[in-house]
Amino acid sequence: MASIQTTAGGMPVLILKEGTKETKGKEAQKNNITAAKLIAEIVKTSLGPRGMDKMLVDSLGDVTITNDGATILKEIDVQHPAAKMMVEVAKSVDNEVGDGTTSSVVFAGALLERAEELINKDVHPSVIVDGYNAAADQALKLLEKIAVKVDIADKDMLLKITRTSMDSKLVSDDSPVLAQIVVEATKQVAEKTESGGLKVDLDDIKVEKKAGGSMRDTKLIKGIVLDKEVVHAGMPKKVENAKIALINSALEIEKTEMSAEIRISDPHQMQMFLEEENRMLKSMVDKIKSSGANVLLCQKGIDDIAQHYLAKAGILAVRRVKESDMTKMSRATGARIVNNLDDLTAKDLGSANLVEERKVETDKWVFIEGCKNPKSVSILIRGGSQRVVDEADRSIHDALMVMKDVLEHPAIVAGGGAPEAYIANELRQWASSQEGRAQLAVQKFADALDAIPLNLAENAGMDPIDTMTELRASQSKGAKWTGIDCRNTKVTDMYKQNVLEPLVIKQQIIKSATEVVSMILRIDDVIASGKSKM
Ligand code: ADP
Repeated sequence: MASIQTTAGGMPVLILKEGTKETKGKEAQKNNITAAKLIAEIVKTSLGPRGMDKMLVDSLGDVTITNDGATILKEIDVQHPAAKMMVEVAKSVDNEVGDGTTSSVVFAGALLERAEELINKDVHPSVIVDGYNAAADQALKLLEKIAVKVDIADKDMLLKITRTSMDSKLVSDDSPVLAQIVVEATKQVAEKTESGGLKVDLDDIKVEKKAGGSMRDTKLIKGIVLDKEVVHAGMPKKVENAKIALINSALEIEKTEMSAEIRISDPHQMQMFLEEENRMLKSMVDKIKSSGANVLLCQKGIDDIAQHYLAKAGILAVRRVKESDMTKMSRATGARIVNNLDDLTAKDLGSANLVEERKVETDKWVFIEGCKNPKSVSILIRGGSQRVVDEADRSIHDALMVMKDVLEHPAIVAGGGAPEAYIANELRQWASSQEGRAQLAVQKFADALDAIPLNLAENAGMDPIDTMTELRASQSKGAKWTGIDCRNTKVTDMYKQNVLEPLVIKQQIIKSATEVVSMILRIDDVIASGKSKM
């Protein structure tokens, strides 16, 4: 199925299903560049704090409102292979560093646009690729040079960095509250490494969301929250000094695989049959009871009769707990996940100070607090509607990744396009040291970096030409942190504005964008391979 898209300039582009059209040489390059640039054009209006949001409607009519580049690209149906490569960039940046997805796609789009200009002037793509790669290496060195070391004990600084990541998202109004939670959560789970640094495993932070209340009611819980209720009304709703058993098999009588028939000739036999079932279920519960457990989390179902016996034994039980939650519970409480009840002993139990069922809006959820391993925390996101909590979830995910980046690599640069403008300025001077046509490519690389401050300014409604002239003038006087203050629509020192970002994100943007652009430029044949790889 082919679809027709138009670029911002109104040029129609036919996006064909993969492998349906063979193209060669310049034509192939042109098609690939156009399709990839189209992807950058889709997301570029959502760059920065004044960027617009996108409303994504899927085939079932479900709506997502977001300005997160990775989410936008994940949801749109892209067919062209080169366009798909651009989507991959966003994904890879998202996986590596969590933030900077829109920037990397916008930058890659700008690199391609400049490359196209050179190709039109008969500069060979491999010359462009070499020039771009040399420029990228130099850019990374320059970034390293201007980066500022962060003292990770400086909580104020960590809050500023987290708030910058949230500043460009829908949740920016509530960022003071949310940033506190994100910083506390990541600091809580951070572990010292042998080399003296820190390591953050985001699997230790469980994020749950529930629509209702306001975003300011979002809470950090020092423990784990399960979006499940206690299974039987007769069970305790609160257990202190909990001894927790984790079972991943069902507390039910197994059904036979084949349909079997039992013929019963008198009511007595029926009674015996039921009693036997009852006895088997009771013996399962007895095994749990004799291990000393007073809380049971079961990954599968729990039969009504077993529930009754568990309630009688004063055990708080939850059924159908997700596998991922079972693993988290095992890490948090030190319990071993047991498959066969016969193997359950006191040694397999985990511990927590408190297990309690609490009301969250109309639902009842189970909170496990004061776990044996204090490195397990949960964030319970609240907000006016499902869409709001979904977007808050995405922003918190990005902010958690940003905090992980800084704790693991404590160095930052200012945002607002300042480092990009600085590097562009330096690269233009450095270009003259390059030989031949590679020089042209380095110049173009510098021009492409300007796309970040330029788009930030455009999205904030500032005049692009005036703003860029002012920015360049200030940068050339050596004011390296001058960038675009989108909130106050002026050109100013972004470090002083507390718009701060991890160095690793800026590095990743440059690395990933250069990589994908090199790949796209090197292609001069698009061939229908005939066979599907599936
Ligand atoms: P990405 O997905 O690339 O992170 P965003 O839409 O989050 O895209 O925008 C990030 C850009 O916005 C970065 O260049 C960052 O420096 C900039 N930015 C964030 N907050 C501000 C601000 N208050 N003023 C100016 N620029 C900002």
